[in-house]
Amino acid sequence: MYNIVVASHTFCKLMSFWCRLLHASLTSCHLLAGYKSFKLFINNEWHDAVSKKTFPTINPATGEVICEVVEGSKVSDVDKAVKAAKEAFRLGSPWRRMDASQRGRLLNLLADAIERDAAYLAELETLDNGKPYSVSYCIDVPMVVKCLRYYAGWADKWEGKTIPVDGDYFCYTRHEPIGVCGQIIPWNFPLLMQAWKLAPALATGNTIVMKVAEQTPLTALYVASLIKEVGFPPGVVNIIAGMGPTAGAAISSHMDIDKIAFTGSTEVGHLIQQASGSSNLKKVSLELGGKSPNIILSDANMEEAVEQAHNAIFFNQGQCCCAGSRTYVQENIYNEFVERSVERAKKRVVGDPFNLKTDHGPQVDDEQFQKILGYISSGKKEGAKLMCGGGVAADRGYFIQPTIFGEVQDDMKIAREEIFGPVMQILKFKSIEEVIERANDTKYGLAAAVFTTDVNKAHYVSNSLRAGTVWINCYNVFGVQAPFGGYKASGAGREMGEYGLEHYTEVKTVTVKIPQKNS
Ligand code: NAD
Ligand code: MG
Repeated sequence: MYNIVVASHTFCKLMSFWCRLLHASLTSCHLLAGYKSFKLFINNEWHDAVSKKTFPTINPATGEVICEVVEGSKVSDVDKAVKAAKEAFRLGSPWRRMDASQRGRLLNLLADAIERDAAYLAELETLDNGKPYSVSYCIDVPMVVKCLRYYAGWADKWEGKTIPVDGDYFCYTRHEPIGVCGQIIPWNFPLLMQAWKLAPALATGNTIVMKVAEQTPLTALYVASLIKEVGFPPGVVNIIAGMGPTAGAAISSHMDIDKIAFTGSTEVGHLIQQASGSSNLKKVSLELGGKSPNIILSDANMEEAVEQAHNAIFFNQGQCCCAGSRTYVQENIYNEFVERSVERAKKRVVGDPFNLKTDHGPQVDDEQFQKILGYISSGKKEGAKLMCGGGVAADRGYFIQPTIFGEVQDDMKIAREEIFGPVMQILKFKSIEEVIERANDTKYGLAAAVFTTDVNKAHYVSNSLRAGTVWINCYNVFGVQAPFGGYKASGAGREMGEYGLEHYTEVKTVTVKIPQKNS
């Protein structure tokens, strides 16, 4: 398992000398020099859009345009990509005839290429998304590599069963690829979300049309060039940058796409389900939003709980679907917990994401920035107590101060809606039964955590919480081997681990008559 924050701190100490040198030479020009263009990746070739349209991608630390990216649009470009993916999936195609072990080998080669180019990819990720370079390099890229290698291993191990049916029959199951998979990914972990989607789909032999988020298209398109370099056959992976309501909607309603996997907002999750229902009933898996409760019982180790609760909400500038955004603290330790959390938040270093001392970069774009500031003023208006932060943290770019609200009530907007920003809500509770009920009183169910030194209480609370992931005395611990996904409106299905393979396979039952006499 991977505690993302611990990993980052340890590794960064080792890397700091090298990174300081690197930092000195970084500019957008440097990063993009020699790179021809960011176009649509279809059939292992680079294409302009049929409409010839492009859109700018922005550096959120400055608000400046990094470069123009080709904008895949509604039907024409998506259609071209789907045709390529369908052709690559044709019976007898190189991809369909490829040994499963060879698919695993290609995934490992892709992991090798990403490791080779790790520094470049991390730089590009930080430039386009704003997350600290220490996080891109020490967390995101290594987790991408682990994910690809993990599913590379599964490629020739995802076995069917033999089944003892009644009668003179031999019955077995085959796990077959579903076909052409549409994959729509968000901007908060652009490289990682790409890997979470690509790896299980390719290990199981599907072909892919992926739409990357319009805020952060650069790293995914660079990975496209590596996909070609390591030898995936044309059409197996097609990657399009473009807008949600055009390119995204064209994928979710396409009649020749057999499955769609989506990560993003719950609102768009509804649209994806509807589009499947009104087109070809393509299979749908969804990883959506959350408003995850983090419960601190009075017997918890205070120092640990404060530190973990801090990272639970502020990691990645609060832009995590599983962010611990409702911190419930038992009444007899409430004041001390709030005080210590405020002290901790004030120490968080906000600034240039390429500076290694920085813990906290800008929000991804102006839209998210404005939305979060709107939630902060709503918290003030509804009577929550602003304990620290609450404002803009720099005179350019989309930086917001780490913000803490105390005295938060369950019915306040900031306690019910996903803010997706660095805003911590601290709520008070009396009894365990009460906090379980309040924690579960949400439309979401992605993650939850409980901090306590009593093992009985830990398991009692964990069993009572309706969430796809529960952390006990820790937060944000991810392992590629362990499934992740949501109860209720937080999603459908699980990604990662063995469970993640189920969404990319059809189960075929084959029954064979066994003759009873040798004739
Ligand atoms: P979003 O759901 O609009 O975008 C996610 C992806 O879906 C992007 O690739 C986008 O282009 C695509 N998309 C948008 N509209 C679409 C449509 N009609 N059909 C098909 N695809 C479509 O998210 P956002 O607007 O970037 O952010 C809004 C909120 O969503 C955030 O504030 C946050 O609450 C939530 N969010 C959650 C996650 C997550 O990891 N669960 C990630 C990003 C955003
Ligand atoms: Mg950008």
